[in-house]
Formats: sequence, structure tokens, C-alpha cells
Amino acid sequence: LHDTWVIHAPDRGGRPRDVRLREEPSLDGPCPFCPGQEHQTPPEILALGRPPGAAPGRPPWRVRVFGNRYPAVTGAQGLHEVVVLSPAHERGLADLDPDAVAEVLAAVRTRMAALAARDDLAAVTFFLNAGAGAGASLSHPHGQLLATPVVPAVLRAEVAAQAAWRRAHGGCLVCHLAGVTAPAFGAAADREPAGHPVAATAHAVAVAPVASRFAWEVLLAPRQHAAHFAAASDGELASLARLLTGVCRALRAAAGDPPYNLVLHTAPVGGEDFHWHLELMPRLAPLAGFEAGTGFFINPVDPATAAAELRARLNGARGAADARPGPRTSP
Ligand SMILES: [Zn+2]
Ligand SMILES: [Zn+2]
Ligand SMILES: [Zn+2]
Repeated sequence: LHDTWVIHAPDRGGRPRDVRLREEPSLDGPCPFCPGQEHQTPPEILALGRPPGAAPGRPPWRVRVFGNRYPAVTGAQGLHEVVVLSPAHERGLADLDPDAVAEVLAAVRTRMAALAARDDLAAVTFFLNAGAGAGASLSHPHGQLLATPVVPAVLRAEVAAQAAWRRAHGGCLVCHLAGVTAPAFGAAADREPAGHPVAATAHAVAVAPVASRFAWEVLLAPRQHAAHFAAASDGELASLARLLTGVCRALRAAAGDPPYNLVLHTAPVGGEDFHWHLELMPRLAPLAGFEAGTGFFINPVDPATAAAELRARLNGARGAADARPGPRTSP
């Protein structure tokens, strides 16, 4: 999917470590993403959960989107927005109800559709940094939307890799990894997933990719082959939210609440030859010179082991029926 090499090296997990991440000073004053502090953020672009007639820029709300006060890009370089997941300062994806996460995904869908309709933007990326070790600067859980006039390098590489797979093997690489079928390609129904199955819901599948770059990495994809996240149905978002919260809880239980990045890859504006997906990338160790200097990755946790442990946590959790492994999962 990323056209790179991955080295699976379980023995490296046991190497000694006596270096700690630098302690940073914490925020002075109230959290700007908490209810009642709306005046601290740029003007609101979108809010969900506010009663009709209530004034914007004030509580109550359930999801809130506004421009990033410290944007990475502006003007002709693009747009940078913040999506606050919920009013709750301490509740991340693993703590929120699936319904609340579905509402976050709906807000992302609305903004992606609006941004993709502009003729000056080539791609929109949604990502979420959870924990200082994953690059989060404010602890109140939030995601970010980055809209750019060029297709980012990673997405460009994925588009090329999916096209190369189709030329070489036919069908779709993400469908192949997830074990689902793209009807457009006329392949046989439900195959063995090439990824290690983690969980599945009615409309979405989670697998540990065979070439996972990061320990405990999970790929989440809709069963329905589709290029654009902005076209996902409410049912797909609800199903994906249920899967995502289940996987995040299982990750916390199995791997000790690691920091992680979550990235949503959807086709570039006007592109069709793509299968949108989420990549959950736990960050148990910072990227080091090896990764920076080569573009290769070293992963100390075998993805088959990671998938088995996550499956076990999901099956042991209450409400496991909502996050059961796919039909092709071996016991
Ligand atoms: Zn807060
Ligand atoms: Zn596909
Ligand atoms: Zn991707």
C-alpha cells in the first residue's frame, strides 16, 4: 500500500531503553477546546448537537469544527481545520460512545465534501494525534483536516500502489487486504483477507496489514469499495464508528494505551481509482534515523500476533457481538 519495505523484528522489542521523552511545560490557563472557551478559538465553521436557535460559538455542542489558530497552511497553500471530538476533555476515541464517534465522522464527511467542492484544492486529509508521543500538542481529543492544492506524497504513493496492484493482479489492493470484494471487478465473493483479521461490523472491516509498519497497526476499511469518504452513508459511518471504538479499546487493553496517529485516506479530488480507509498507527517508539533516512520501517510486533491479541480483547469485551471477527476468522 505504501510501496516501501518493512522489517518485522520481534527481538528488538526487548532491547534496553533508558532514554525518556522530553517533559514539556503544560498549558497555562483553561483548555481552549472545552465548552465555555469557544472565544479562544477562531470562528466556528460547523457545530453538531446545538439546539435550533441557540447562538453559535457557545455551549452546548457535541462536535465542533473551526480554523486552526496556528495553521500549517493558509491561503493559496490550503486550509487547516480543527475537529473537537466532544465537549469532554478526557474522552478520546476509546472512551466515547460509538454514536458520538459516528457524529465526529459525519462532521468530517461534511467538511470534506465542502472542501472537495472548491476548485483550488487537490486533496483533503483527516488525521488525529492521540498523546504527546504521537505529536498531540493539546490534550483535549481533537482531529485535524488538512486541505492542500497538491496531493500529499503519501496519498500519491498509495494511489500509485493501488493502480500498480490493479495492473498486476486485477481487483483492488484494499479489498484484497480486507478480504472483501469490489463488485466492479467481477471477482468472486468474500475471499480470505490478506491482512490478519481483527474485527468486522456490518459495513466495515479491520485487519492488521501483513506488512504493518508499526507495532499494533490496524487498517480499517468499508466493505463497500468506494473512492470518496464524503460519499459514505450514515449506516457506513455508524458501522465504522462501532468498529473504531472497539479497536481503540482493544488496543488500549492489549498494548497499554499507546499514543497513536489515526489517518483517513480518501481519493484526491476528482480521483476515482481508490478505496478509502483509516490507518491506526500506534507510536510505541518515535520514528528514528533508520525510518527518516531510509523510508523503511522496523516493527517489533508481528502483525499476526497483534491481530490475535486484539481479537481476543474484542471477543472478551462486553458487546463483543458488535465487533465480532469476520466470518473467515479462524479460531
Ligand atoms: Zn478541554
Ligand atoms: Zn476496494
Ligand atoms: Zn492510507
